Amino acid sequence: MIKLHCLGASREVGRSAFVLQTDRRVLLDYGMKIFDEAGKPTYPDSVEDVKLDAAFISHAHLDHSGFVPKIYTHSKIPWYATPPTYDICDILWKDSMKIQGDELPWGNAHYKKAMKYWQPLMYNHRVGVGETNFEFMDAGHIAGAAMVLAKYNGKKILYTADFKSEATRLHAGAKMPRENVDALIIESTYADREHPERKGLEKKFADEIYETVNQGGTVLCPSFAVGRSQELIRIIRAYHRDVPIYLDGMAKTVTHVYAKYRKYLQDYDRFVQDVESITFVESMEEKKHATAGGNVIVSTAGMMEGGPALNYTKYLNRDSKIIFTGYCVEGTNGWLLQNKGQLRVEGNMLEVELPVEYMDFSAHAGRKDLFDMVKKTNPGKIVCIHGDEARAEKFAEELKGMGYDAVAPSRGDKIDLAKIS
Ligand SMILES: [Zn+2]
Ligand SMILES: [Zn+2]
Repeated sequence: MIKLHCLGASREVGRSAFVLQTDRRVLLDYGMKIFDEAGKPTYPDSVEDVKLDAAFISHAHLDHSGFVPKIYTHSKIPWYATPPTYDICDILWKDSMKIQGDELPWGNAHYKKAMKYWQPLMYNHRVGVGETNFEFMDAGHIAGAAMVLAKYNGKKILYTADFKSEATRLHAGAKMPRENVDALIIESTYADREHPERKGLEKKFADEIYETVNQGGTVLCPSFAVGRSQELIRIIRAYHRDVPIYLDGMAKTVTHVYAKYRKYLQDYDRFVQDVESITFVESMEEKKHATAGGNVIVSTAGMMEGGPALNYTKYLNRDSKIIFTGYCVEGTNGWLLQNKGQLRVEGNMLEVELPVEYMDFSAHAGRKDLFDMVKKTNPGKIVCIHGDEARAEKFAEELKGMGYDAVAPSRGDKIDLAKIS
């Protein structure tokens, strides 16, 4: 029997972590949840008692990679990831140490060990762990993001992690498997809705920028450091060659990493050209210029929990506008701003008079894409993960209604994926 032990991302988004058991035990992702309902970080179930052989990390987002250094408090297994994932993990893990300090369940020594035990694995390349073969496939989600295809004893297991089928300015879209699989472990983040069509949304975003900037305002885009900030640069430049763009926060370092990886980006040359045309904010002088009006600021943090994005709001003139392009967890500043027109700064609530908008530039598959993935792979067993309670459950119910054997597991569950004859 091939088994899946669910340690997180089960009826929730965040802390993706699974142990796949074939002839070996392998971790599929080991992430954390950055904000739980109380605004605190939470972690997946421990693997200290599990004798692991390797880990495969789908991509660098902390909800998939953030707990990897914890492995090295008790184990010395190799972890496989693409080179961009490794480079971005380096940035995000260092940032975690800075932000969480002593509260983090791992420290600098474990971070260093984790960096040492990395093994590169490229898209469409294979590696064997025992008798099980593992292959990475482009997930179209962020640079270096992979789906994991495991083969053991004639059985195929596909773990999608986070994927996007539709092409974006940076990625061609997930590489769909050409074969049926025996088990599909699939994200459910947006199983109940479609994202707006990309081109139309880009146009709307570009129009808003044009209007605001023309009036002498600044458009502030609080943005995720990984993926979204880089995509926004490409989108803005595709429509406005000359609008000054200021990039601030951790997005700057990540953008330098993106610019290293020709093979992992669409239109790489244009991306590099666009990046060369923007200002990486380093000085106070540049911060002042950024808010002077007539500009766009792309800055972390995406949910406005700290980072320069939060600080900029104080200096925007009254013709300015704030546009969110990513999901904000309830209770975060990004959510407060969109729903109540307020920000929490150092414990005080501030009213913000500026117009605030949300545009759904999601890097995840929409409803139709998820069902397409199921139809293309025609799995004998489906495990619906990485979706909140209601969504994951409804997704599994719908799939059952279509005749599939589907389940939305709870944390701690052990699921039989396929029988070995
Ligand atoms: Zn992700
Ligand atoms: Zn995720």
